[in-house]
Amino acid sequence: MEKATILVIDDEQEMCDLCYDVFTKKGYRAETAKDGDVGLRKVKKLKPDFVLVDLKLPGMSGTKVLKEIKDFDPSIVSVVITGYASIESAVEAVKLGAYDYLPKPFTLDQLLTVTKRGLERRQLILESTALRQEKKKMQELFISMVSHQLRSPLTAVQGYFDLILGDFVNDVAEQKKMIKRAGMRIKTLLNLINDWLKMAEVDKDRVEKKFEYLNLSSIISETVDLMQPLARNKGVSLQFKSSDGLSLVRGDKEILQEVFTNLIDNGIKYNKDGGTVTISIKENSSQKNLNIEISDTGMGISEADIPFIFDEFLRVKNEKTQQITGTGLGLSIVKRMVEAHSGSIKVSSEPGKGSTFTVSLPKSYKSKAKR
Ligand code: ADP
Repeated sequence: MEKATILVIDDEQEMCDLCYDVFTKKGYRAETAKDGDVGLRKVKKLKPDFVLVDLKLPGMSGTKVLKEIKDFDPSIVSVVITGYASIESAVEAVKLGAYDYLPKPFTLDQLLTVTKRGLERRQLILESTALRQEKKKMQELFISMVSHQLRSPLTAVQGYFDLILGDFVNDVAEQKKMIKRAGMRIKTLLNLINDWLKMAEVDKDRVEKKFEYLNLSSIISETVDLMQPLARNKGVSLQFKSSDGLSLVRGDKEILQEVFTNLIDNGIKYNKDGGTVTISIKENSSQKNLNIEISDTGMGISEADIPFIFDEFLRVKNEKTQQITGTGLGLSIVKRMVEAHSGSIKVSSEPGKGSTFTVSLPKSYKSKAKR
């Protein structure tokens, strides 16, 4: 959690001032409200991480405020401040969704302990919500993949086999052609499965554990060397302009190689005969990030397609891309991999002229890079 927001709803001015001072000194963003109506308005506007609610409020009661907060956003953690330190009022508050309670009068230490625990709880809720959403997205994507992307090549392969085995095609040359086509569809299928597995493997927490200091320049240089034969085959010139800086990052070498391989591969694949792919590292000493640009002189991407280009399974369909094979997962894998390095990726493009993908990665300042 970056800077937690805490809201205190209490009609006692002194209590509000005290909490405000303590929380801002601790580096939190603090807000106060003197009654339930103002408090709820602030909850809706600020979406705080943690709310301290006095049970005894003028106007709308503390218990009603608690319930409204819970209804608005169950992930907000509320703690009740109560004048009567009775088990009954605490039980009542917890029943209404409060995480804990703090009997008045309390010490600063007690206030900070309850706040710390409350914020830890909030962090856990946010993490588990994000995980749940990610899991749901992967499940939906998996279903989409099985029902569309996997089914159609398999149906095609089965169709060819049925034709051959049913003696509908007796000419051997024709049969060979069909088997070759079936082989191509199977290859697409394997690419898709491999890409899918790569995507499922990129988990930020897991990836981060393997991070080491790396010299980006040598990683890209190695990748470019490996891609030269493919570029030559396609009649595309592949160039790398390294920077004068150190180009140090913290990352996973194999994953970063995969990122640049994918982007260079696209630069070659969607290029024209005699075209160019240029990779350059832009390093500015005043900036926190390193920018790596992969520019091509290819077909470009229309403005309408750009917002969807990093989505899973998106493939631009037009007469130029018709003959080019792919899974539509490459850029979404790249995006996940870059984000696992706390970086970002963007694209600018002009149809008919080319595209530039810019990967931005946090610079590292330690001089322990592997060469
Ligand atoms: P794939 O290349 O397997 O189709 P990607 O996720 O790598 O999948 O790319 C998604 C789509 O974005 C591609 O189908 C293509 O239409 C478009 N695209 C990607 N890179 C480029 C590029 N360098 N130039 C033009 N179009 C591109």
